Amino acid sequence: MCGTLEGMTDVTPVEEIAPARVDEGDHDRFAHVVQPASAVMEAMITGVPCTALCGKRWVPSRDPKRYPVCPACKEIVETAGFRLPSG
Ligand SMILES: [Zn+2]
Repeated sequence: MCGTLEGMTDVTPVEEIAPARVDEGDHDRFAHVVQPASAVMEAMITGVPCTALCGKRWVPSRDPKRYPVCPACKEIVETAGFRLPSG
């Protein structure tokens, strides 16, 4: 064997993350709404930022249920006729 593929035979595609695009700030104080909800779980697992309805991009890292719903997200949800999981 010529060995040109040494150590390179098992390649797994990985998405690149651009940390500079992630907003810092009030995402720790508000629970933003992401559709579909599965995108949040995916972001937690992959570390790839998800985008909330209000446009906030961040990597969710904790349970948001303890925070009040982001006013901008809530307005969009109500306008679109969606229903929040809990009041
Ligand atoms: Zn929001």
